[in-house]
Amino acid sequence: MKPGKPTSPETQSNPPIHSETSSNQALFFKAKSSEALLDDTLQQALKKAQGGFIEKRSQAIADVENFDSYKQQAQLVKNHTLDHLAYYLTQFEENVTKNGGHVHWASTPEQLNNIILHICERRDAKSVTKGKSMISEEANLNAALEAAGIDVTETDLGEYIIQLAKEPPSHIIVPAIHKTRQQVEALFRETHDLGERDLDNIAALVDEARLQLRQKFLDADVGITGANMLIADTGSAMVVTNEGNGDLTATLPKVHIVTASIEKVVPDLESASAILRVLARSATGQPITSYTSLFSGPSGIEDLDGPDEFHVILLDNQRSQMLGSPFEDMLKCIKCGACLNHCPVYSAVGGHAYGWVYPGPMGSVLTPLMTGLKQSSDLPNASTFCGRCEEVCPMGIPLPELLRQLRNKEHEDHLTSWKTRFSLKGFMWGIQHPRVFHWITKTLRMILANSVLTRLLEKHVLTSWYSSKELPKNYSKGTFMEQYQQDSKQKKSKQKKS
Ligand code: SF4
Repeated sequence: MKPGKPTSPETQSNPPIHSETSSNQALFFKAKSSEALLDDTLQQALKKAQGGFIEKRSQAIADVENFDSYKQQAQLVKNHTLDHLAYYLTQFEENVTKNGGHVHWASTPEQLNNIILHICERRDAKSVTKGKSMISEEANLNAALEAAGIDVTETDLGEYIIQLAKEPPSHIIVPAIHKTRQQVEALFRETHDLGERDLDNIAALVDEARLQLRQKFLDADVGITGANMLIADTGSAMVVTNEGNGDLTATLPKVHIVTASIEKVVPDLESASAILRVLARSATGQPITSYTSLFSGPSGIEDLDGPDEFHVILLDNQRSQMLGSPFEDMLKCIKCGACLNHCPVYSAVGGHAYGWVYPGPMGSVLTPLMTGLKQSSDLPNASTFCGRCEEVCPMGIPLPELLRQLRNKEHEDHLTSWKTRFSLKGFMWGIQHPRVFHWITKTLRMILANSVLTRLLEKHVLTSWYSSKELPKNYSKGTFMEQYQQDSKQKKSKQKKS
């Protein structure tokens, strides 16, 4: 199915939004973030990893003369492509077919899984290796392959670690960011047959993973990768990695399957390089990633190796619904992760609290759009609206504005609690009647200045509000308006005297 035939989140079969069941799905974020804030190991891991990303990104940007012009060029490419999405997707399909490959269209994650299972079944595949692919995370592909009796191995180091830990990724480019070195060592000791091997440093851990993965690469019947971009005029899938695992996954098995979403297409290699210039700098602070590979079809007669089947599966999963909607900007996302690294909320709670594959500010917009706002109504509120995400986004996506629109929608669709709606209505009425508003704030100040009354309020009236917030203790100076009026009077009398 090509874009233009949308499916609604209620009728399609997205995988379960949370890895664990929760009695109240919409409140998953609140519950999980409270747990995350109390997890010292997680807090340590997040602080260490994210500080590094922020510094490296700002250095990488300072190293180029005019990063803003790079951003503008990348944004122009995306704007142009989205305006002509159907044209470039059709061109991409024609060129893949010309190169001897096959393009498949999947409306839903379930369709994507079925296409892959069908290919695996036809090739009698027993073993699959995977490069990093957020689309396969969207589809929960590993579970579908395992249920069909196929051995699946993630080959990106971070993905390999979380696969062993049976956890979902907690960051879009660093899936195991929440794990410390000691936790990875313990995991390898538990799951690998180590013998005498020592694992007391990071290099030893990497060697250990390499040792395990080498044979998996050689044995795989099918290799599945994601794609950072799809080049329409050559019919190629571009994969960028820092580990080279994408190349081994794509070239060693006899079948290479690329999973990508429809907005990944760009017109040509020049357009792709405009995006590459901002991608690695925004993501890891590198000028360019270690490996940038293009896969354009099955191996030819003169090739010494390579797959004899090449498939690209294009997933829609609500994206064609976003096209032309107030949320179209979200389709410009190149999954660099910069908004996650700079978000004070993500930095405090990590990725698992967001409950699905896309965390942080971009996830708080994407998840409700893909899985339905009802299922994830906490997420648009998981933001302080500090605006840092928009500032660092190389594609200029107005994330706070998109979150604000989702909050409005939540209110319109009656997804907020009656208490919130009642409080907002009361507040709106209050600010429209300043005299009453000032009388209420004055009365509240008097109550809060009295410790006995404050305790009563805390214990019996605003219990849930007080459970996560606290008010300043000293109210003797008066309300904000009283202090403001006092200051203004003092300034005026000073001016008169001088
Ligand atoms: S929203 Fe922007 S900053 Fe966030 S991942 Fe996408 S492109 Fe990067």
